[in-house]
Amino acid sequence: MGLLSRKFKIMSLVVVGSMAFDALETPFGKTDKIVGGAATYIAWCASNFVKPIKQVSVVGGDFPQEELDILASRGVDLEAVQIKKDEKTFFWSGRYHMDMNTRDTIDTQLNVLANFTPVVPESYQDCEFLMLGNLVPAVQLDVIKQLKNRPKLIVMDTMNFWMETCMDDLKKVIAEVDVLMVNDAEARQLSEEYSLVKAATKIMAMGPKYLIIKKGEHGALLFHENHVFFAPALPLEEVFDPTGAGDTFAGGFIGHLAKTKDISFNNMKTAIIIGSAMASFCVEKFGTERMREITKADIDGRLQQFVQLVNFDIDLV
Ligand code: AMP
Repeated sequence: MGLLSRKFKIMSLVVVGSMAFDALETPFGKTDKIVGGAATYIAWCASNFVKPIKQVSVVGGDFPQEELDILASRGVDLEAVQIKKDEKTFFWSGRYHMDMNTRDTIDTQLNVLANFTPVVPESYQDCEFLMLGNLVPAVQLDVIKQLKNRPKLIVMDTMNFWMETCMDDLKKVIAEVDVLMVNDAEARQLSEEYSLVKAATKIMAMGPKYLIIKKGEHGALLFHENHVFFAPALPLEEVFDPTGAGDTFAGGFIGHLAKTKDISFNNMKTAIIIGSAMASFCVEKFGTERMREITKADIDGRLQQFVQLVNFDIDLV
Protein backbone atom coordinates (compact mmCIF):
# COMPACT_ATOMS: atom_id res chain seq x y z
CA MET A 1 0.00 0.00 0.00
CA GLY A 2 1.44 3.41 -0.98
CA LEU A 3 1.97 6.18 1.58
CA LEU A 4 -0.96 8.16 0.21
CA SER A 5 -3.45 5.32 0.34
CA ARG A 6 -2.24 4.37 3.82
CA LYS A 7 -2.76 7.90 5.05
CA PHE A 8 -6.15 8.42 3.41
CA LYS A 9 -7.41 4.86 3.63
CA ILE A 10 -10.98 5.04 2.44
CA MET A 11 -13.83 3.26 4.08
CA SER A 12 -14.79 0.13 2.35
CA LEU A 13 -18.09 -1.72 2.36
CA VAL A 14 -18.22 -5.14 0.74
CA VAL A 15 -21.69 -6.45 -0.12
CA VAL A 16 -22.27 -10.11 -0.92
CA GLY A 17 -25.59 -11.51 -2.11
CA SER A 18 -27.82 -12.65 -4.91
CA MET A 19 -28.49 -10.62 -8.04
CA ALA A 20 -31.59 -12.02 -9.58
CA PHE A 21 -34.67 -12.06 -11.71
CA ASP A 22 -37.88 -12.12 -9.69
CA ALA A 23 -41.48 -12.79 -10.72
CA LEU A 24 -43.85 -11.40 -8.13
CA GLU A 25 -47.49 -11.58 -7.32
CA THR A 26 -49.13 -9.34 -4.75
CA PRO A 27 -52.84 -8.61 -4.12
CA PHE A 28 -52.28 -5.48 -6.25
CA GLY A 29 -50.61 -6.90 -9.31
CA LYS A 30 -48.19 -9.24 -10.95
CA THR A 31 -44.84 -8.83 -12.65
CA ASP A 32 -43.01 -10.90 -15.21
CA LYS A 33 -39.29 -11.29 -14.62
CA ILE A 34 -37.89 -8.10 -13.14
CA VAL A 35 -34.45 -7.37 -11.73
CA GLY A 36 -34.13 -8.17 -8.03
CA GLY A 37 -31.83 -10.03 -5.68
CA ALA A 38 -30.60 -9.29 -2.19
CA ALA A 39 -27.33 -7.62 -3.21
CA THR A 40 -29.13 -5.52 -5.82
CA TYR A 41 -31.48 -4.01 -3.24
CA ILE A 42 -28.68 -3.59 -0.70
CA ALA A 43 -26.50 -1.76 -3.23
CA TRP A 44 -29.32 0.52 -4.38
CA CYS A 45 -30.02 1.48 -0.80
CA ALA A 46 -26.54 1.66 0.72
CA SER A 47 -25.25 3.78 -2.17
CA ASN A 48 -27.32 6.64 -0.72
CA PHE A 49 -24.91 6.64 2.23
CA VAL A 50 -21.47 5.38 1.18
CA LYS A 51 -19.27 4.92 -1.85
CA PRO A 52 -17.69 2.80 -3.09
CA ILE A 53 -19.67 -0.35 -2.47
CA LYS A 54 -17.72 -3.43 -3.45
CA GLN A 55 -20.13 -6.02 -4.71
CA VAL A 56 -19.60 -9.80 -4.76
CA SER A 57 -22.16 -11.73 -6.78
CA VAL A 58 -22.82 -13.73 -9.94
CA VAL A 59 -25.22 -13.30 -12.86
CA GLY A 60 -25.88 -15.11 -16.11
CA GLY A 61 -25.47 -13.83 -19.66
CA ASP A 62 -29.19 -12.93 -19.57
CA PHE A 63 -28.71 -10.22 -16.91
CA PRO A 64 -29.12 -6.77 -18.50
CA GLN A 65 -25.86 -4.86 -18.92
CA GLU A 66 -27.77 -1.57 -18.31
CA GLU A 67 -28.54 -2.73 -14.77
CA LEU A 68 -24.86 -3.27 -14.08
CA ASP A 69 -24.01 0.08 -15.67
CA ILE A 70 -26.51 2.01 -13.58
CA LEU A 71 -25.23 0.41 -10.37
CA ALA A 72 -21.67 1.26 -11.42
CA SER A 73 -22.75 4.87 -11.98
CA ARG A 74 -23.96 4.94 -8.36
CA GLY A 75 -20.53 3.96 -7.06
CA VAL A 76 -20.98 0.20 -6.97
CA ASP A 77 -17.73 -1.55 -7.86
CA LEU A 78 -18.57 -4.70 -9.84
CA GLU A 79 -15.09 -6.21 -10.10
CA ALA A 80 -16.20 -9.30 -8.16
CA VAL A 81 -19.55 -9.74 -9.92
CA GLN A 82 -18.98 -12.74 -12.18
CA ILE A 83 -20.87 -12.86 -15.46
CA LYS A 84 -21.42 -16.45 -16.61
CA LYS A 85 -22.19 -15.81 -20.27
CA ASP A 86 -23.68 -19.23 -21.03
CA GLU A 87 -25.71 -19.63 -17.87
CA LYS A 88 -28.91 -18.22 -16.44
CA THR A 89 -29.27 -15.71 -13.62
CA PHE A 90 -30.77 -16.88 -10.29
CA PHE A 91 -34.56 -16.79 -10.47
CA TRP A 92 -37.05 -16.46 -7.62
CA SER A 93 -40.78 -16.24 -7.73
CA GLY A 94 -43.04 -15.39 -4.80
CA ARG A 95 -46.66 -14.69 -3.99
CA TYR A 96 -47.75 -12.44 -1.12
CA HIS A 97 -50.77 -13.09 1.04
CA MET A 98 -53.42 -10.42 1.62
CA ASP A 99 -51.66 -9.12 4.78
CA MET A 100 -48.45 -8.55 2.72
CA ASN A 101 -46.41 -9.73 5.70
CA THR A 102 -46.34 -13.35 4.64
CA ARG A 103 -45.45 -14.86 1.30
CA ASP A 104 -45.01 -18.20 -0.37
CA THR A 105 -42.01 -18.98 -2.50
CA ILE A 106 -43.39 -20.44 -5.71
CA ASP A 107 -40.09 -21.20 -7.38
CA THR A 108 -36.35 -20.95 -6.67
CA GLN A 109 -34.04 -21.70 -9.60
CA LEU A 110 -30.46 -21.42 -8.36
CA ASN A 111 -28.95 -21.46 -11.89
CA VAL A 112 -25.61 -19.58 -11.61
CA LEU A 113 -25.81 -19.72 -7.82
CA ALA A 114 -25.65 -23.52 -7.84
CA ASN A 115 -21.87 -23.62 -8.26
CA PHE A 116 -20.77 -20.09 -7.53
CA THR A 117 -17.23 -19.77 -6.24
CA PRO A 118 -16.63 -16.17 -5.19
CA VAL A 119 -13.22 -14.64 -5.76
CA VAL A 120 -12.43 -11.68 -3.51
CA PRO A 121 -10.04 -9.39 -5.41
CA GLU A 122 -7.07 -7.63 -3.84
CA SER A 123 -8.86 -4.28 -4.16
CA TYR A 124 -11.56 -5.52 -1.75
CA GLN A 125 -9.09 -6.46 0.98
CA ASP A 126 -9.35 -3.15 2.84
CA CYS A 127 -12.92 -4.07 3.77
CA GLU A 128 -14.01 -2.57 7.08
CA PHE A 129 -17.70 -3.44 6.82
CA LEU A 130 -18.99 -6.68 5.36
CA MET A 131 -22.66 -7.14 4.53
CA LEU A 132 -23.48 -10.77 3.83
CA GLY A 133 -26.80 -10.50 2.02
CA ASN A 134 -29.00 -13.50 1.42
CA LEU A 135 -27.00 -16.14 -0.44
CA VAL A 136 -25.74 -19.73 -0.23
CA PRO A 137 -24.25 -19.94 3.31
CA ALA A 138 -21.10 -21.72 2.08
CA VAL A 139 -20.45 -18.76 -0.25
CA GLN A 140 -20.98 -16.28 2.57
CA LEU A 141 -18.43 -18.21 4.64
CA ASP A 142 -16.00 -18.43 1.74
CA VAL A 143 -15.98 -14.62 1.45
CA ILE A 144 -15.26 -14.21 5.18
CA LYS A 145 -12.38 -16.69 4.88
CA GLN A 146 -10.90 -14.93 1.83
CA LEU A 147 -10.57 -11.62 3.68
CA LYS A 148 -7.07 -11.40 5.12
CA ASN A 149 -8.12 -9.09 7.96
CA ARG A 150 -11.37 -9.51 9.80
CA PRO A 151 -13.68 -6.56 9.01
CA LYS A 152 -14.66 -4.21 11.82
CA LEU A 153 -18.25 -5.46 11.53
CA ILE A 154 -19.84 -8.42 9.76
CA VAL A 155 -23.61 -8.27 9.27
CA MET A 156 -25.52 -11.22 7.87
CA ASP A 157 -28.97 -11.79 6.41
CA THR A 158 -30.41 -15.15 5.42
CA MET A 159 -33.76 -16.84 4.86
CA ASN A 160 -35.86 -19.92 5.56
CA PHE A 161 -34.78 -21.55 2.25
CA TRP A 162 -31.25 -22.02 3.63
CA MET A 163 -32.55 -23.24 6.99
CA GLU A 164 -34.41 -25.95 5.13
CA THR A 165 -31.64 -26.92 2.73
CA CYS A 166 -28.33 -26.48 4.62
CA MET A 167 -28.80 -25.67 8.29
CA ASP A 168 -25.34 -26.97 9.26
CA ASP A 169 -23.55 -24.66 6.83
CA LEU A 170 -25.79 -21.80 7.90
CA LYS A 171 -24.89 -22.26 11.57
CA LYS A 172 -21.18 -22.14 10.66
CA VAL A 173 -21.64 -18.69 9.13
CA ILE A 174 -23.85 -17.47 11.96
CA ALA A 175 -21.04 -18.38 14.38
CA GLU A 176 -18.69 -15.97 12.53
CA VAL A 177 -20.79 -12.81 12.33
CA ASP A 178 -21.40 -9.83 14.62
CA VAL A 179 -24.96 -8.99 13.62
CA LEU A 180 -27.57 -11.41 12.29
CA MET A 181 -30.82 -10.20 10.77
CA VAL A 182 -33.79 -12.46 10.16
CA ASN A 183 -37.55 -12.07 10.17
CA ASP A 184 -39.73 -13.26 13.04
CA ALA A 185 -40.71 -16.56 11.38
CA GLU A 186 -37.06 -17.30 10.60
CA ALA A 187 -36.00 -16.47 14.18
CA ARG A 188 -38.56 -18.99 15.41
CA GLN A 189 -37.47 -21.60 12.87
CA LEU A 190 -33.79 -21.15 13.72
CA SER A 191 -34.24 -21.24 17.50
CA GLU A 192 -37.27 -23.54 17.79
CA GLU A 193 -38.69 -21.03 20.27
CA TYR A 194 -41.98 -19.17 19.89
CA SER A 195 -41.12 -16.27 22.21
CA LEU A 196 -38.93 -13.86 20.29
CA VAL A 197 -37.10 -12.95 23.48
CA LYS A 198 -36.18 -16.59 24.11
CA ALA A 199 -35.39 -16.99 20.41
CA ALA A 200 -33.04 -14.01 20.59
CA THR A 201 -31.19 -15.42 23.58
CA LYS A 202 -30.72 -18.77 21.83
CA ILE A 203 -29.61 -17.21 18.54
CA MET A 204 -27.10 -14.86 20.19
CA ALA A 205 -25.64 -17.92 21.93
CA MET A 206 -24.89 -19.27 18.42
CA GLY A 207 -22.39 -16.43 17.86
CA PRO A 208 -23.76 -13.01 16.91
CA LYS A 209 -23.52 -10.34 19.60
CA TYR A 210 -26.42 -8.48 18.01
CA LEU A 211 -29.64 -9.80 16.54
CA ILE A 212 -32.20 -7.91 14.48
CA ILE A 213 -35.63 -9.46 14.12
CA LYS A 214 -37.64 -7.88 11.28
CA LYS A 215 -41.40 -7.91 11.62
CA GLY A 216 -42.54 -6.40 8.33
CA GLU A 217 -45.16 -3.70 8.83
CA HIS A 218 -44.70 -4.12 12.60
CA GLY A 219 -41.13 -2.81 12.61
CA ALA A 220 -37.91 -4.39 13.83
CA LEU A 221 -36.30 -5.37 17.13
CA LEU A 222 -32.61 -5.00 17.92
CA PHE A 223 -31.27 -7.31 20.65
CA HIS A 224 -27.88 -7.07 22.37
CA GLU A 225 -27.04 -8.82 25.64
CA ASN A 226 -30.06 -8.05 27.81
CA HIS A 227 -31.03 -4.88 25.92
CA VAL A 228 -33.74 -4.57 23.32
CA PHE A 229 -34.67 -1.62 21.10
CA PHE A 230 -37.67 -1.29 18.81
CA ALA A 231 -37.93 0.60 15.52
CA PRO A 232 -41.42 0.93 14.06
CA ALA A 233 -42.26 0.67 10.40
CA LEU A 234 -43.95 3.75 8.95
CA PRO A 235 -47.70 3.17 8.57
CA LEU A 236 -48.15 3.62 4.82
CA GLU A 237 -51.33 4.26 2.92
CA GLU A 238 -50.24 2.02 0.08
CA VAL A 239 -47.96 -0.99 0.08
CA PHE A 240 -47.53 -2.46 -3.37
CA ASP A 241 -44.73 -4.94 -3.08
CA PRO A 242 -42.71 -5.90 0.02
CA THR A 243 -40.04 -7.70 -2.03
CA GLY A 244 -36.61 -6.45 -1.13
CA ALA A 245 -37.80 -4.60 1.97
CA GLY A 246 -35.55 -6.75 4.15
CA ASP A 247 -32.56 -6.19 1.90
CA THR A 248 -33.25 -2.48 1.66
CA PHE A 249 -33.45 -2.40 5.45
CA ALA A 250 -30.06 -4.12 5.53
CA GLY A 251 -28.65 -1.58 3.06
CA GLY A 252 -29.80 1.34 5.19
CA PHE A 253 -28.49 -0.29 8.36
CA ILE A 254 -25.00 -1.10 7.07
CA GLY A 255 -24.88 2.08 4.95
CA HIS A 256 -25.35 4.26 8.02
CA LEU A 257 -22.86 2.29 10.13
CA ALA A 258 -20.23 2.35 7.38
CA LYS A 259 -20.76 6.07 6.82
CA THR A 260 -20.42 6.95 10.51
CA LYS A 261 -17.88 4.18 11.29
CA ASP A 262 -19.50 3.90 14.70
CA ILE A 263 -20.55 0.39 15.67
CA SER A 264 -21.88 1.16 19.15
CA PHE A 265 -25.28 -0.16 20.24
CA ASN A 266 -26.54 3.44 20.31
CA ASN A 267 -25.58 4.02 16.70
CA MET A 268 -27.13 0.69 15.74
CA LYS A 269 -30.41 2.06 17.11
CA THR A 270 -30.16 4.95 14.65
CA ALA A 271 -29.18 2.49 11.94
CA ILE A 272 -32.33 0.40 12.35
CA ILE A 273 -34.48 3.54 12.15
CA ILE A 274 -32.67 4.43 8.92
CA GLY A 275 -33.14 0.86 7.68
CA SER A 276 -36.86 1.08 8.42
CA ALA A 277 -37.14 4.44 6.68
CA MET A 278 -35.42 3.11 3.56
CA ALA A 279 -37.55 -0.05 3.54
CA SER A 280 -40.67 2.13 3.67
CA PHE A 281 -39.73 3.52 0.24
CA CYS A 282 -38.99 0.11 -1.23
CA VAL A 283 -42.52 -1.25 -0.68
CA GLU A 284 -44.23 1.70 -2.40
CA LYS A 285 -43.63 0.35 -5.91
CA PHE A 286 -42.74 -2.94 -7.55
CA GLY A 287 -39.17 -4.24 -7.43
CA THR A 288 -36.40 -1.65 -7.25
CA GLU A 289 -38.52 1.01 -8.99
CA ARG A 290 -38.96 3.30 -5.99
CA MET A 291 -35.31 2.98 -4.94
CA ARG A 292 -34.32 4.37 -8.32
CA GLU A 293 -36.37 7.54 -7.79
CA ILE A 294 -35.66 8.73 -4.27
CA THR A 295 -33.46 11.71 -3.49
CA LYS A 296 -31.61 12.84 -0.38
CA ALA A 297 -34.49 15.26 0.32
CA ASP A 298 -36.96 12.34 0.21
CA ILE A 299 -34.83 10.40 2.69
CA ASP A 300 -34.50 13.37 5.05
CA GLY A 301 -38.25 13.99 4.88
CA ARG A 302 -39.01 10.39 5.71
CA LEU A 303 -36.60 10.37 8.64
CA GLN A 304 -38.47 13.41 9.99
CA GLN A 305 -41.69 11.41 9.76
CA PHE A 306 -40.07 8.70 11.86
CA VAL A 307 -39.05 11.24 14.48
CA GLN A 308 -42.68 12.44 14.64
CA LEU A 309 -43.96 8.87 14.80
CA VAL A 310 -42.11 7.93 17.96
CA ASN A 311 -41.61 11.25 19.70
CA PHE A 312 -43.65 11.72 22.89
CA ASP A 313 -43.40 13.19 26.36
CA ILE A 314 -44.47 11.23 29.35
CA ASP A 315 -44.68 11.92 33.07
CA LEU A 316 -44.01 8.97 35.32
CA VAL A 317 -47.11 8.09 37.37
P1 AMP B 1 -36.52 -9.79 0.84
O1 AMP B 1 -37.90 -9.46 0.34
O2 AMP B 1 -35.79 -8.60 1.34
O3 AMP B 1 -36.52 -10.93 1.80
O4 AMP B 1 -35.66 -10.30 -0.41
C1 AMP B 1 -36.19 -10.57 -1.66
C2 AMP B 1 -35.06 -10.89 -2.61
O5 AMP B 1 -34.39 -12.06 -2.18
C3 AMP B 1 -35.58 -11.17 -4.00
O6 AMP B 1 -35.21 -10.12 -4.88
C4 AMP B 1 -34.98 -12.52 -4.39
O7 AMP B 1 -34.33 -12.49 -5.63
C5 AMP B 1 -33.98 -12.81 -3.29
N1 AMP B 1 -34.02 -14.23 -2.90
C6 AMP B 1 -35.09 -15.04 -2.78
N2 AMP B 1 -34.72 -16.27 -2.40
C7 AMP B 1 -33.37 -16.26 -2.29
C8 AMP B 1 -32.38 -17.22 -1.93
N3 AMP B 1 -32.73 -18.48 -1.60
N4 AMP B 1 -31.10 -16.84 -1.92
C9 AMP B 1 -30.74 -15.58 -2.23
N5 AMP B 1 -31.62 -14.62 -2.57
C10 AMP B 1 -32.92 -14.94 -2.60
